[in-house]
Order: sequence, then structure tokens, then C-alpha cells
Amino acid sequence: AQGLPDRWIRTICPYCGTGCEVDMGVKGGRITEARPVLSSPVSQGHLCVKGRYGFGFNDAPDRITEPMIRRNGVWEAATWEEALAAAAAALRQALSVGGPDAVGVLASSRATNEENYLAQKFARLALGTPHVDCCARVCHAPSAAGLGQTFGTGAATNGYADIERAALLMVVGANPTENHPIVGARIRQRVRAGVPLIVVDPRRTELAELATVHLAPRPGTNLPLLQAMAQVILGEGLADGAFLAARTEGIEAFAASVQAWTPERAADLCGIEAEDIRRAARLYATLRPAMAFHGLGLTEHRQGTDGVTALAHLALLTGNVGLPGSGVNPLRGQNNVQGSAQMGCEPSRLTGYQKLAEAREIHAQVWGAEPPQGPGLNALEMIDAAGEGRMKALLVIGYDPLLSHPNALETAENLNGLEALIVVDLFLTETARAFGTVFLPAASPFEKEGTYMNGERRVQRVRQVVPPRGGSRTDGTILSQLAERLGAGSHFRFPDAAAVWDEARRTWPAIAGISHARLDREGGVQWPCPTEGHPGTPVLHAEGFPRGERVRFRPLAWQPSPEAPDAEYPFLLNTGRNLFHFNAATMTRRTRLRELAAEDLLEIHPADAEGLALTEGDPVRVESRHGAFILRAHPTDRVRPGEPFATFHSAAAFVNRATGPGRDAVTGTPEYKVTAVRLQKG
Ligand code: SF4
Repeated sequence: AQGLPDRWIRTICPYCGTGCEVDMGVKGGRITEARPVLSSPVSQGHLCVKGRYGFGFNDAPDRITEPMIRRNGVWEAATWEEALAAAAAALRQALSVGGPDAVGVLASSRATNEENYLAQKFARLALGTPHVDCCARVCHAPSAAGLGQTFGTGAATNGYADIERAALLMVVGANPTENHPIVGARIRQRVRAGVPLIVVDPRRTELAELATVHLAPRPGTNLPLLQAMAQVILGEGLADGAFLAARTEGIEAFAASVQAWTPERAADLCGIEAEDIRRAARLYATLRPAMAFHGLGLTEHRQGTDGVTALAHLALLTGNVGLPGSGVNPLRGQNNVQGSAQMGCEPSRLTGYQKLAEAREIHAQVWGAEPPQGPGLNALEMIDAAGEGRMKALLVIGYDPLLSHPNALETAENLNGLEALIVVDLFLTETARAFGTVFLPAASPFEKEGTYMNGERRVQRVRQVVPPRGGSRTDGTILSQLAERLGAGSHFRFPDAAAVWDEARRTWPAIAGISHARLDREGGVQWPCPTEGHPGTPVLHAEGFPRGERVRFRPLAWQPSPEAPDAEYPFLLNTGRNLFHFNAATMTRRTRLRELAAEDLLEIHPADAEGLALTEGDPVRVESRHGAFILRAHPTDRVRPGEPFATFHSAAAFVNRATGPGRDAVTGTPEYKVTAVRLQKG
């Protein structure tokens, strides 16, 4: 029939870390349809609205498909030869003036594993700098750090199939119904079938309404809450003594450290009932196996890593590690946020999230050249360094720091210190628009071959659905061509993405058994998978931990955030996403999804709205100590009094003008979830 696609190509949804397989229909060389894959173990024949209708960005009229160079403040069309030469010259100039510390690479959780592998190799070999990071820094870096320091592996312990095996589900600081809808639907199905659910979220989300216990802590008080749950579990003799004795160390010091965290003390700080903390702790400790998920509501805090560690402690206390249906499982935001850092786009880690010092030798052998000593600067520190004049040139791939980093006024001031900012992207991002000097148009996720790694460690094949539009090129091609011009081309000559992946497999034993050919034959595989005959690993730590049989508890101390409300700034602003858009909405706002949610909104409790004489749709000026933005009000009792919530998708609203400079003490991840603000009818 007229209108039906000519062909269907199977690939992976370009949005969240759930990693749903999707069949893309192509007609006349354009993508016209997306349909779910019945056999997918992840999505089981479903797609959310983003996967189903969010592909139109590929043919958006403002997509940039030819290179550009900015001359005298004006973007001018250029040939690839001219643009690559300009980019290479700018990087060489920065290196000659300031050495390897004057250049850095920001890579993308939207790029494939192979592209991220090449991006870190480009930074380390072509530029000789340790300064390479990716946008996992502004979301789940604390998950990798917290799980890594507790269990020895910074990835989800279990897989989505375990949702159907868990006797209890706990969701901490995540709203999967909107942000990971297929995972959210699987959780809801189990809850409707009678599985108890604990939700920790300051907002009364759709999932919270189904919860057996909904704990709504004041933003910034996750740690007291989780410590108090540990105190109840230990105090009431609910811990798994056999597990603690066989597989952990340091329980005595840990028990002493949480003793003062009575439910009453925590409840007072969190603004919730002590009895609810007890109920949650008892449910979590007694219904086995218990499976915990968490999101950015746990990580994007000054103590994001400590929050993840505290959740991991609860799993250890109750023996919920190494069992099907248990564990601690970060819900990853972007489709390859697991893969980007895992492939070495991390200033202190090489491929496989292996520590620099421990993995330099294997990389030197495989690469035929030594990676530089580190650690390098993280994404935020690189931009700080630009403001201080130390960082002179940045290569930014699929990442819009101006729109997505907090404290945007300071970010802008710092980016202004760069002499060159080379952008590899599909669109003129806010960063490119304001500060770009060379623009290299990238192929989209539908225009290349490779793999992504979803939130349950499953490596899956990304396939080219349509050829790169216009003159755009894949990140891999761009990096190789830049490397040639910097005299490092010999390290970047690969016939295809499979060959890049094969090199990465030689540097990281956990993926050695996963080839592109196997993925094409069998479908996705969860690492660790050390040999071609290995079936993959759905549950981590069943046999032991990477650093030995036992892991150690780490006593944690809570530090209240200085972003406390006061007479001048009496509200606590929380930020997050909605169902229809994705992060800076670079892709989603160029699709039909825009019709479903055209603008960001400020959720505000009806009592607060009344106090400010606000009704639905009124503009509200939201001002913090750092900056201000204006959004329309949406009064709702989903949020608590005093705790408004803003979505942050659009450049028009620019919500990150108001978020502050606070960062997680371990990873530097910004404190997006806690900002003291005042509100005024705009
Ligand atoms: Fe895509 Fe995530 Fe939706 Fe699946 S749940 S279709 S991966 S956005």
C-alpha cells in the first residue's frame, strides 16, 4: 500500500538508557516509521512515545550537514578540507602555547561505544592530553563511583528481567514512568500484580501513587533517610548475618556510624514520618529478593556518590547482592551513558572504566603508544580552566555544556575564555551558537554502525538505517581525519566500526567475548563476557567481587547543602525531565513530540501558587543566588509546599541560569536537584 516503508532496519532507540530495540521503516531514503521489536528482551514488543515518534529530527530543516568556520563572528560555509584544517590548526596552536593541558575533549553519551573509544584515544594519543570526559559527568558519574567503590564494578548489578523476579521493588530518586517508560511499565505491571513498592521521591509521581510506602524527603536529604533505614535494619536485627560474615568487612564501624541516625532524627530533617522510614526499612529487609533502582534524584547532589554508596550499603546489609531479582541498578539517562565512560571517556579511567594506573600497560601494548599519566580534568573543571586561561581549545562532540551545565552565567563566562571551540554535532547547539569556532556536522544515530551499552550492561548493535545526510560524517571518521592532520593517523586507521570494537575488546577482558558478528547472530549480550562461548552475565557478584571475596562498608557523614532556603530565597527548586523531551531537547523538539509538550513548566504547590496569586499558565520569575529564568506556572499537589519543580529542556527557558555551583565531592557532578530560589509573578 502507498506510504508503507520500502524496508525495515533494526537498531536501538536513540533516547534513554533502557535501550529498546526498534525497527525503523525507510521510504524513499527517509525514515518514515518506527515500530517495536516483539523479540526484544528489553522492550518486549513495546516502545514509549519518544522511541515511536521521536525520529523526525533526522530530517529537520535546520540540521547542519556541511562544515562551517566562524570568521569575524559570522558562521561561513566551508569544505571538509578547510574545516578539518582549521580544527587541526586550532588544536596545534593551543598545544604549542599551553601544552597538553591547554586542550580537552568532551565526548557524548549519544555516541556509540566505538566512537567513544576513539574519542578517548584521540584525546590521549592524538592530543597527548588526559583531559577527556563525557556527559555522564553531569548525571550518573556518582553511580559509577559509588557502586565502584562499594562493589568494585560501577555498573548495574542486575538486569531488567529481574523486575519480574523481585519480591520487593524500591525506586530512589527516579521517575521511570516518564524518563525510562518501558522500565517504568514493567515495574508498574509487577506492582499491579501485588509486589510491594517503595518510592523515594520528593514529588508524588505516578509511580509514587502506586507505592506501598512513598517517602518524600526534602531535596538534599537522601543520605539521612538511607542511613536511618540502615539503622533500623541493624537495630531491629533484620540484617543478613551470614551474608555480612561471608562477604563483607567493616560492619562494626559502619553500625556505629549509623547508630545516631534514628528514624526520628532523619524524619525531622527529611520532612517525613519516622514510622514510614521504619516501614520501608522492614519491607526492604524482609522481602527477598529486593531490587533497587535509582536515578538522578540520588546522584545530582553534593553527596551524590555517598547517596549511591548508602543505597549499596542497604543491599549489602540485607544480602541483596548477587541474587536474581536484587541489587542496585542505576536507571541510565542517555542511551549510551553506560558506554561512554566505560569506553574510557573519563579523565581517570581507561577502557572498561579501568583505573589509569592499572590499565596503562595493556593500553600501551594494544595502542603501540603510552596513554598520558592522569588523572585529567573532568568536564566542569575543563570549562573552569578555560575561564582561568589554562584551557585554550576544546573539542565538543554531541554535548551542549552551555545549556546543560549548571550556573549557566558562569559557564558562559568561562567558555568565553577559549580560543577555539570545535563542535561535532547535528545542530547549532547553544554552545556552538555562542562560542563555536569550527562546526563539523555529524552523522545521526540512525546513520552509523556500532554498538550501545544499555543500563543493564547489555551491548547491542546500532545499525545504519539511512546514509549520513548531506555532507555529514560519523564521529569516527571525523576523529580519524583530524588525527591524520595531527600526525597520529596511524592509530586511527580502521576499516569499520567492528574493527574499532575489536581493538577495544583487546584492552578490556570483560567484553572480549562480544563481537559484532555475535551480536548480529544472537542479539544483545550483557558483560562481563570474557569468551565467545560465554553466555554473558545477567547478575553481577554472584560468585564474588572483582577485588576479592569481600567488600568493605564505608561509614558516611552527612553534610547539609548550603543551598538551604532562607528569608530571601524561601523555596527549594528541583529540576528534571518530562515524558516527551530528552535533556536539552536538541532532538525531541525537532520531532512531533514538540506538539505534545511545547514548553517547560514550573510545578508549584497550589498553596504556594495562591500565596503568590498565580494561576495555571501565569509566568513566574524564578530567581536564585546564581541567576534567574521565567517559566509558566502549573499548580499541582504532586509537589510539596515550598518545593517547586522545573523541567529544563528548552533554551528559551534556560533553567540552568539559576542552578548553582555545588558539585558532588567525589565526581564533580552538579547539584541540579537543590537550589534555593524566590518566586515572583513574572
Ligand atoms: Fe527509547 Fe527509552 Fe522509550 Fe525505550 S523507554 S523507546 S529506549 S526512550
